[in-house]
Amino acid sequence: MKNQIYIETYGCQMNTYDSDLVQSILINHGFQMVDSPNQASVALLNTCSIRENANNKVLNRVHEIKRVSSDIKIGILGCMATNFKTELLDNKRLNIDLIAGPDSYQALPSLINDAIDAQIQEKPFDVTLSEFETYESIYPAQKDGANAWVAIMRGCNNFCTFCVVPYTRGRERSRSISSILDEVKLLEDQGFKQVTLLGQNVNSYRFGNDTFIDLLDQISSKTSIKRIRFTSPHPKDFPIELLQLINDRPNICKQIHVPLQSGNDRILKKMNRSYTQVEFLSLIDTIKSTIPTVALSTDIIVGFPTETHDEFLDTKHVCETVMFDHAFIFKYSERPNTRAALKFPDDVSADDKTERIMALIEMQKSHSKIKNSQWVHQKQDILIERIDDHQLVGRNDANVLVYCPKSNDLIQVGDLVPCMIQSATPHGLKACVHQQ
Ligand code: SF4
Repeated sequence: MKNQIYIETYGCQMNTYDSDLVQSILINHGFQMVDSPNQASVALLNTCSIRENANNKVLNRVHEIKRVSSDIKIGILGCMATNFKTELLDNKRLNIDLIAGPDSYQALPSLINDAIDAQIQEKPFDVTLSEFETYESIYPAQKDGANAWVAIMRGCNNFCTFCVVPYTRGRERSRSISSILDEVKLLEDQGFKQVTLLGQNVNSYRFGNDTFIDLLDQISSKTSIKRIRFTSPHPKDFPIELLQLINDRPNICKQIHVPLQSGNDRILKKMNRSYTQVEFLSLIDTIKSTIPTVALSTDIIVGFPTETHDEFLDTKHVCETVMFDHAFIFKYSERPNTRAALKFPDDVSADDKTERIMALIEMQKSHSKIKNSQWVHQKQDILIERIDDHQLVGRNDANVLVYCPKSNDLIQVGDLVPCMIQSATPHGLKACVHQQ
């Protein structure tokens, strides 16, 4: 039981990827992964600091695990580890046994051994932020489902004032194209038809003279992966050549996430987003004219400190103008240790935030319905993600969820299945398998 490790993941896709990476590192060092904390000597919680309820969830979970299994050692990994190292180590009630930040996973085998070793009194931790660690040649241990995630860069240099990532994950650094290509080819051999390139600031990818365009070009031309996606990009890094490449290559999905955050120039400046409303709308025009079939999604924060109703209306105006296919809309909430939390009081009332988010959600529903309706009566290839009893669930190239009655038992998760789209809702599409 000494070498048995349980890992639980919270937060973003990068954390899920990192948990697979951690498993790979631990298995290579002779540890065994188990499915429940009851079977483990060490439980690792790979955490997120983006939203407050993510922190609370983790703290509650630590108590829960300790209640059920009092001898177990608990390790905190991920963004909370870097963001709250001292608080976590000093908290006697939590009694955390080890801490490792996102750049310290290669040190985990020895941190775990130190935590288990009764002779060592001091609690082991490593939250050093590296300028170089990219886990270049370590490939994540387990992959299943229809999509494989591939981290191509880590960290962020943008310092948006509401975001903790530059402090918890450090500065930008990228993997070499050759190591990424090797990983994608391995995934191709395992049968994956889709990869999603992952990074906190994915289109800022740079390795020597190689740019994100070079990387996409090579994955698109040197592998037979059918669908290539990427997330999450920053609006400042969309040169026209990148858009042309996306339009020209059938295996690069015509779906782009362009995080708006706010449509008001004063708020954008306070957020340190480095573009204005006019610049954002001009980028959208360029994207739409270069990739006529593009599907666009976005992230929006309502109620950022000092945002007035009129300034919120600027955000609404941008949404009306762009008509995003999909939007992730959040109420602003203060995140400890961000510049916004330190400098700007969270002064927009809860009621105002609720009113603003409801207005945007309602509008987005009608936009999503209109945008989804454009696919009706079209034949599209659907990548199957899940098979329920009587239903196939997958996504089209635009990343819209598609529901389709199961027509036979031969179709598997990960298959690309030609379907005829029959109807649309704000949340997805209904289709039937297209009989050739
Ligand atoms: S670009 Fe993204 S990851 Fe970087 S600071 Fe801004 S919100 Fe955070």
